[in-house]
Amino acid sequence: MILGRPGRPLVGIDIGASAMRFAVFSGSAGDRTIVRPTPAVPRREDIAGAFAQLAAMGKSGCRAGLSRAPGLDARGRIADWPSRPRWRGFDLAAAIRSAGIAATIADVDDAVATVAGEYLLGGFAPDRRIAAISLGTGLAIGLIIDGIVQATGDGAEGLAHRALGLGDRRCRCGRIGCVQAAFADPRLDDDGFAAIVALLRDRLRDAYGVTAFVFAGGRAQRWRGTIARIDGCTLSPAPFWSATLGAAALACAGRDLRSVALDEALRDRLRRRRAAT
Ligand SMILES: [Zn+2]
Repeated sequence: MILGRPGRPLVGIDIGASAMRFAVFSGSAGDRTIVRPTPAVPRREDIAGAFAQLAAMGKSGCRAGLSRAPGLDARGRIADWPSRPRWRGFDLAAAIRSAGIAATIADVDDAVATVAGEYLLGGFAPDRRIAAISLGTGLAIGLIIDGIVQATGDGAEGLAHRALGLGDRRCRCGRIGCVQAAFADPRLDDDGFAAIVALLRDRLRDAYGVTAFVFAGGRAQRWRGTIARIDGCTLSPAPFWSATLGAAALACAGRDLRSVALDEALRDRLRRRRAAT
């Protein structure tokens, strides 16, 4: 299956702690994207308005993917979001539905969305075992093994909050020295960052056989030189957009991406998209 052909655009939403991204990706026909800063207090009309603008470009009845940093409860409300506490209880699913678009929304944790996007952007061989590490306001780690996106736990139960045994900082998840706490240390310098990445890389290699480590997210830019020097690690070709793309692709194809590829024009264009907008 080729995703993102002009007649079958990909529609994605990414709700992160710093930015909300809305996109229609459509092969050689071009893309339409909207980026809004994530407000401290959520407003239904912000989300519905942006989605309505984009979804009109997709076909009626399209499938749209939602990547989100917070966990949702069974009814689609935000269960907990330490980075944006005033969003707790906000009905995200209802906000998207209120755009009035006849779209089926498939929602995934941002770790899952990011690794799917990186897999499609990177053109990896189907048997590669890849970890995508998204460094934004928080941290997300997703895995794809032999072309199948893995369930790695939502929010505080995900890989980003496994205890690494590094440092003594307590994370918002309550654990001391988890991966996110280690990466969030404001005293972190290049050598410290490289040491954490090397330890995380070795743990994921031992536990899951991961051999390729891709860094996405806005904060990855800060460490781009360091990442390039660490064996097995690369910076995403589209660090701000892989989660939006991945969510859109998962909505259309499901988690088995072995026989899925991106439209070449779309892939080439996204691979040049290093900027935030
Ligand atoms: Zn944690």
